[in-house]
Amino acid sequence: MNYQAILDDIHQEVLHRLPCGDVATYIPQLASVSPQKFGMAVQTVGGEMFQVGEAFEPFSIQSISKVFTLTLGFPFEGDKIWTRVGLEPSGSAFNSLVQLEYEHGIPRNPFINAGALVISDILLSHLQDAQTSFLDYVRQRANNSAVQDDPHVARSERQSGFRNAALANFLKSFTNLTNEVEEVLEFYYFHCSLSMSCVDLAKAFLFLANKGLCLWTNQPVLTQSQTKRVNALMLTCGTYDAAGDFAFNVGLPGKSGVGGGIVGVIPNRLTVAVWSPGLNKKGNSFAGQYALELFTTKTGVSIF
Ligand code: GLN
Repeated sequence: MNYQAILDDIHQEVLHRLPCGDVATYIPQLASVSPQKFGMAVQTVGGEMFQVGEAFEPFSIQSISKVFTLTLGFPFEGDKIWTRVGLEPSGSAFNSLVQLEYEHGIPRNPFINAGALVISDILLSHLQDAQTSFLDYVRQRANNSAVQDDPHVARSERQSGFRNAALANFLKSFTNLTNEVEEVLEFYYFHCSLSMSCVDLAKAFLFLANKGLCLWTNQPVLTQSQTKRVNALMLTCGTYDAAGDFAFNVGLPGKSGVGGGIVGVIPNRLTVAVWSPGLNKKGNSFAGQYALELFTTKTGVSIF
């Protein structure tokens, strides 16, 4: 398969559609990014990397970080983790409050904000210095020691994070947070604030296409069974209340963030990361989803 030619083709097709969608405006650091940006990277399990556009430019990974927190936290708790967070698509917005009340403080899944707050709480309970351990973990997965958090993004998130604070307080009232609300929010904003490029993300997700084994450290990050489960969750819950649309049009497990990044996984083959900051109504990258749809169509490879 000539992945480079396919990426070049996709780049041409996407370029004349840009800008499309609206960049996130709830914090200035996201609002100021050009909607013309586009980058894409493919990493194969055989060790090959292909890229196009602004694939080396770091951007705010936002909710994509929720895959890293889950995969770091899952081995600590094993299947006990599913007593505190569910496994079903939410069908509502990623920061919705109502469902959490109806369902007595058990978030639908680990990728909506409430679920990610519970996972943050679990990490804080297991790690001495959760921020440092988390950053080390992501750097190892990405094989890049230069991956950094962005304290300005984290501060802005905190200043505008009224809904996340409400969700965390709700969780606490249902006794589904062990640590202090403020501590959990601080760690949550920290992990959302990481800056990574498409190349970093394609590399960092590779273990999910490689039966849980990290190619760069040669370490098992997850068991094969846990890997299968995380991929299933990304398929059903990775793009919020647009997961059905994403599965229909792209046909891959994937995780998006409001910074405009999306990472897709083709088990036993490759990962593909894309970035374009203009978002659709559901908070997923407009051009990013289109590019992934073109990728699975042109390669003829999806999980279906
Ligand atoms: N930091 C963002 C928030 O908490 C992440 C949301 C996202 O990427 N969907 O609202």
